[in-house]
Amino acid sequence: MTNEQLRSEILRLKEKNGVTIVAHFYQRDEVFEMADITGDSLELAKRAVDDANPYLIFCGVGFMGQSVKLLSPAKRVFMPRIACCAMARMIDTSYYTESIAAMEKRGIQKENILPVTYINSSAEVKAEVAKMGGLVCTSANAKIIIENALKAGKKIFFLPDRCLGQNIAIDMGLKSAVIGQDEKLEEADIICYDGFCSVHQLFTPEDVDFYREKYPDIKVIVHPECDPKVCAKADFVGSTSQIIKYIATLDPEQKAVVGTEFNLVNRLREKNTYVLSATKPECTTMNETTLEHLHAILKSIDEGTFFNEIHVDDETIKWGSEALRRMMALS
Ligand code: SF4
Repeated sequence: MTNEQLRSEILRLKEKNGVTIVAHFYQRDEVFEMADITGDSLELAKRAVDDANPYLIFCGVGFMGQSVKLLSPAKRVFMPRIACCAMARMIDTSYYTESIAAMEKRGIQKENILPVTYINSSAEVKAEVAKMGGLVCTSANAKIIIENALKAGKKIFFLPDRCLGQNIAIDMGLKSAVIGQDEKLEEADIICYDGFCSVHQLFTPEDVDFYREKYPDIKVIVHPECDPKVCAKADFVGSTSQIIKYIATLDPEQKAVVGTEFNLVNRLREKNTYVLSATKPECTTMNETTLEHLHAILKSIDEGTFFNEIHVDDETIKWGSEALRRMMALS
């Protein structure tokens, strides 16, 4: 089938079967254009809950489909590809337990630790976090969530993204330490797990210097999953939604260089926008989903053969949704 035929078949099957298509900002253009709902991970989960269709196809990575299932367990959620976020894969429940044990070994009692997990984590990890009284955050609300969490008078265990935890600590004038990297965990306000995003790790302070030298008036805009040394040199640090809003405020002639995923940067605006890396910063797992995959999953719903459905057990739904709701109550 040509792409044109695929697009018309996707629209026909979607209408016929009552399916909502949801796509994250980092999806390929041809997939992104087919979506009814687009946004960042939290926006997508929230808006998907309000959607009335019985079936939902999530074009993104695994933890995002799981987040919809946690908030809306009755909905049947499918993914064209069960693609994984590399960062979310860096921590599972056993690494989580080991991290708590590592802190206890350093004299930090479990009851004095409050875990905060970035939304880029599995449903199972979110559930473990909730069981310890913790909650979820996103890159857009991490500061508000941590400000509130600190009121408990405990040390924050921030997972899995080291950079986001460190950037928030710098922004708030707090001390941070990374498990396995820093000796003095007990002196830190925020103890970070040593996970990272392989895409945002591509950007370096030298990339920022290169663009500043080439275009002295350029605006440097980066995502907080970038290394703190990169964020320190930026004019603006924000989540994907915040980056989109910031770019919209710029004069069309203002040059801007952006440090985040390629597909998003590419559709930000028509001119004067550059990617902050000589290497294409592409999230390979996000880019796995194609029009063919989207068509195949719709066909399986139409034929009742169903594959790639997201299933989460009841106990994980109970606790994982609690971690998400605690965040939503604060942001
Ligand atoms: Fe995960 Fe990074 Fe890809 Fe986002 S860009 S889905 S954090 S690997």
